[in-house]
Amino acid sequence: MPIHDVFARHPLARGSLHASCEDGWLVLIDDCLTQLEAFGQPIDVLQIGEKMGVLQIRIATPSGLPRDAQRQWEDIIHAAEEASLETCDVCGKAGRLRQSTTGTYATRCDEHKEI
Ligand SMILES: [Zn+2]
Repeated sequence: MPIHDVFARHPLARGSLHASCEDGWLVLIDDCLTQLEAFGQPIDVLQIGEKMGVLQIRIATPSGLPRDAQRQWEDIIHAAEEASLETCDVCGKAGRLRQSTTGTYATRCDEHKEI
């Protein structure tokens, strides 16, 4: 499923609707957007990408939400980012953070351990 299709499934998402990461993490992004949608607020995507082998999701917290809901919103995003540390960014299977001999970080399964 390309990132374009992920965003197409979530009409509340707007803004920077692309992701600079491999396809293995798209399911994490999809799950995250599904949970955020339950708040019924616009989902302002600022940036989605990979940094040092970890998924980085930058989505604005809606100012119209009560404080508790804002915290839940942010927890959902953090949970998706943490899940990326156990998810191969190539295939979506269980993985772990690895470092290449040249110092590049990536979270990969055993099959895709060559970074
Ligand atoms: Zn893999």
